[in-house]
Amino acid sequence: MKNNLKYKLICFDLDGTIIDETIFIWQTLHDALGSDKVRRKKYAQDFVDKKITYRQWAEHDLELWREVGATRSKMLDATKGLILMPGALETLNELKRLKEKAKKEGNFFKLAIISGSLNIALEKVLPNYKDYFDDVYINHLIFDGKDGENLVGIKTTAFDFENKADALKEIVARENIPLGECVFIGDHDNDIHVAEIAGLSIAFNCKSERLAQIADIVIEKKDLREILKYIL
Ligand SMILES: [Mg+2]
Repeated sequence: MKNNLKYKLICFDLDGTIIDETIFIWQTLHDALGSDKVRRKKYAQDFVDKKITYRQWAEHDLELWREVGATRSKMLDATKGLILMPGALETLNELKRLKEKAKKEGNFFKLAIISGSLNIALEKVLPNYKDYFDDVYINHLIFDGKDGENLVGIKTTAFDFENKADALKEIVARENIPLGECVFIGDHDNDIHVAEIAGLSIAFNCKSERLAQIADIVIEKKDLREILKYIL
């Protein structure tokens, strides 16, 4: 049976796209936990200047969080202001419905997250995210100790900033989907490279001038349902 959906893969950024009340969760956590402002700025600059890798940057940030006594409870508490983007749940439910419909008709349709956000942020706003997404590329904090409170490490994503594009390439190669049939929705500078290669790129709740310039569509209204008319 013919797949009458224009696009077979819809990829989302998280912070500022599906998750509201944060621009970057890392920054939100630093602010809530009160970590050293001078050093966090320096590490971010070192990453931009390519003096340290993404993984090293993440490790440095973890060190800053541990210094101020970050525990699992304190970090979860720091995510309490995060909410789903207006219209996100309705949008995801509609896409999930279409995914199930396509499956029944012998077709397929995939949903993915390609993000530099943290698992605790996604779990806060959408605990059942696995019901929606086929692929989730994200950073995972690791807690340990007998009460699971100690922040002991992080499993970093290999797919943030320019490498977000590699995550998209990995999915399309595995699923045999042309890049032209992929959609990417994001809000910031770290979404530029992946937006450049996706068949349809949507800048949503956009804070990046460059992303707005290269995106096929810019959505001004802060309601994620606005994307549906372009992708269905
Ligand atoms: Mg974002």
